Amino acid sequence: MKLTEDLSKLWLKGRGLPVPEGLPADGPEEVEKIARKLGSRVVVKALVAAGRRGKAGAVQLANDPSSARAAAERIFGSNVAGRNIERVYVEHAVDIAEELYLSFAFGTISPQVVVSRLGGVDIEETAASNPAAIITCEIDPQRGLAAWQAADLWDRAGVQGALVPKLAALTVELYRAFRDADALMLEVNPLAVTTGLELSIVGAMMEIDENALFRHAEWERMALEDAGPGGRPLNERERDVKIADKRYPGGAIRYTELDGNIGLLVSGGGAGLLQHDLMLAAGGRPANHSDTSPSPTPEKPAAILEAIFSNPNARGLLIGYNYLQLAPCDLVIQALLLAMERCKVDPRRFPIVIRLFGPNEAEARRLVSRIPGIRYLPNGASLADGIGEIVAAVNRLPQGTPA
Ligand code: GDP
Ligand code: MN
Repeated sequence: MKLTEDLSKLWLKGRGLPVPEGLPADGPEEVEKIARKLGSRVVVKALVAAGRRGKAGAVQLANDPSSARAAAERIFGSNVAGRNIERVYVEHAVDIAEELYLSFAFGTISPQVVVSRLGGVDIEETAASNPAAIITCEIDPQRGLAAWQAADLWDRAGVQGALVPKLAALTVELYRAFRDADALMLEVNPLAVTTGLELSIVGAMMEIDENALFRHAEWERMALEDAGPGGRPLNERERDVKIADKRYPGGAIRYTELDGNIGLLVSGGGAGLLQHDLMLAAGGRPANHSDTSPSPTPEKPAAILEAIFSNPNARGLLIGYNYLQLAPCDLVIQALLLAMERCKVDPRRFPIVIRLFGPNEAEARRLVSRIPGIRYLPNGASLADGIGEIVAAVNRLPQGTPA
């Protein structure tokens, strides 16, 4: 997950690193207020978790508060990397003498540091046209990055004089910030050398490992607000599933809504995707995709089922696991009963088809037999049989009846 620049900079600032003073703003008026408070020339930047804003015209310098407001008016409502700009970042403008480049990311095995003297908005072009200007080095994760190694890198990049030890010290600190954030990527571009020969983190972008969010409560909220499929925000049901995924024990669960009307509880992976194809071929339309792993309690699968039952477009449910699966069948059925109870689902009006074989199947069948209207396919039925049954059942529903 990529962090927006305000969060990346807050993290770096919290570690005492040289970040220009700045604040996020929701509208042009607020931008003017912040610019007045900063009392200097400012930069107004679109706040999106994407790079290359400079090239898109979404980074603008302003000499005074009213031109900051005017710059913000141009940026708000514009589009960067396919996203509408609804927030901007206003910060103290730095008098830049030179733009350097520094990043940390993972190579095939170990973390890598990349530096260049030719930083700034054209770094990608430089990498292509002048690869010798880009210096890359692997970092031993056990030993970390030593100041002498960092100094050597900047020396090889062509930096000279008193700047080298300063850069080396900052590079070591930034590597620690990258590591402690459980980041996948930290890019400082530009790492500015000011006209007063100080260093300033002018452009900062971080991508963090979502699996480590439990160690970073400050970013957990952003993970829920953002990071929807294809860049769209999560809807409330998708968000509820994500919250349940964090809260309850067991393997990861995912739930993504699509534009059809047949809910799918599938275990993800090949059989899950195959059932999408089978459903489309049979003339049905999936209301969602799901991805589940076995868990010790019914809460995780129940969260997905509750999302399916609350989706206003869903008119039926298929529980379609592959034959060789590890989840105890009775636990999946307990989840079903729990979600049906919580969402007051009547399977005579909301068809439910189950194709679920494996551990504790007899107990699962016993639980289902107590509820009229659920169709539990006999052991040996194929994935295509499950799809055929649910598509036919949903097609039999009277048109326009609410789910
Ligand atoms: P990005 O294009 O999304 O990476 O956004 P950056 O924050 O890197 O800004 C793009 C470019 O705008 C930088 O490379 C600088 O040339 C310029 N810029 C950004 N902030 C400042 C600033 O405070 N002072 C000056 N002089 N230029 C800036
Ligand atoms: Mn940049």
